[in-house]
Amino acid sequence: MTNLQTLPPLPWHGGCQCGQERYKLTAWPLTLYACHCTECQKQSASMHGLPMLVPRNALEFTGNMKIWSRPTDSGNTTNCHFCPECGTRLYHHGTHRQEPEAVVSVKGGSLDHIRLLEPVGHIWLKSAQAGFRADPAAMCFEGQPESYEPLHQAFARRYPPVSSFKG
Ligand SMILES: [Zn+2]
Ligand SMILES: [Zn+2]
Repeated sequence: MTNLQTLPPLPWHGGCQCGQERYKLTAWPLTLYACHCTECQKQSASMHGLPMLVPRNALEFTGNMKIWSRPTDSGNTTNCHFCPECGTRLYHHGTHRQEPEAVVSVKGGSLDHIRLLEPVGHIWLKSAQAGFRADPAAMCFEGQPESYEPLHQAFARRYPPVSSFKG
């Protein structure tokens, strides 16, 4: 799939389905991939999750959010932030990472120009839904990758940061 439209410079914007909650993203994402785990399928009530990893201190929110927390397989807790009006999930944050630059997972579909971005990889393919076909050019993992570094590198190669000013 060719992508003839270039990505906008930062900041990027996104929000929930009803528009009550909006955010501004001031740092280039570390990566964008599809997650086919059963938690993401339930959470999205759809085919897969679309995590966009960003540093927490690069996100600025306006509006009200609610938090639902769940334990993770690794023994930590994930705080799941969502719009209390329309229920759209906006981002997930592991509570064991409290430093400002900690990486959080924004729900990719909330980004205003998400149609310009293709996930660079697919994880948890062993639980992917029937009918799903991964792009052969994407990185594929049957389960959880040992490291997310290859997904970061693939995103940086595919989508080099756009400078907001010339020179
Ligand atoms: Zn909303
Ligand atoms: Zn998942």
